[in-house]
Amino acid sequence: MAVTVKTERELALMREAGRIVAGVHALAQKVARPGITTAEMDRLAEEYIRDHEGIPSFKGYRGFPASTCISINEEVVHGIPGPRTLSEGDVISVDVGVIYQGFHGDASVTFALEPVSKEAVWLMRLGQETLAYAIEQVRPGNRLSDISWAIQSYAEERGASVVRQYISHGIGRQMHEDPQLPNFGPPGRGLRLRPGMTFAIEPMLCAGDYRVDDSQRGDGWTVVTVDKRLSVHYEHTVAVTQDQPKILTCL
Ligand code: MG
Repeated sequence: MAVTVKTERELALMREAGRIVAGVHALAQKVARPGITTAEMDRLAEEYIRDHEGIPSFKGYRGFPASTCISINEEVVHGIPGPRTLSEGDVISVDVGVIYQGFHGDASVTFALEPVSKEAVWLMRLGQETLAYAIEQVRPGNRLSDISWAIQSYAEERGASVVRQYISHGIGRQMHEDPQLPNFGPPGRGLRLRPGMTFAIEPMLCAGDYRVDDSQRGDGWTVVTVDKRLSVHYEHTVAVTQDQPKILTCL
């Protein structure tokens, strides 16, 4: 599939999808507290999406049963909401995708319940900074792997590792479009960025080793760090414009 360049109208629809995604993130952080189940958080997320005329894109995707992925502590991505309750000190990633009038928004945020460990404070801040630095590279004329290198170099220079097995991606009429965008690798390679291209940029950072495993939980989905150490996941859907990168998944 060719890399798609979106029109202004299409970007506006992706912006609306992204606004709903950001609303879910705000809601999730508001309702998260010790004792709430991840299934209840997911129910509230789906209700919010449908109330705003969106469709939860994760639900049914390759059989995924929920509207959000909620991944806790050593879980990296693709955690399935269910009867698990949140506990004090948990580090919680909420990944959500929304379709609005045929166009997708996809983003993830990681936050923690008090009392937050020093390691969690460090890794969450680094995750946010890494994503921000990556987004800075989303400019016309840059090459795709300039984004990859920005992520890897920024995170590794500051002591975290970057997951290799799951990567960033193009997005638009499909949740996952070309190009595939690794969160690691040398700069200066691949596609030249052009206005109207849109990417879901989603570094997954680990406090320890970057190796992950999707078979340990036996649910076919949940990805955990092999060393069981902490992981965070931040993601925005971003458009290339003539000048500044434009984040689509914000309020
Ligand atoms: Mg994504």
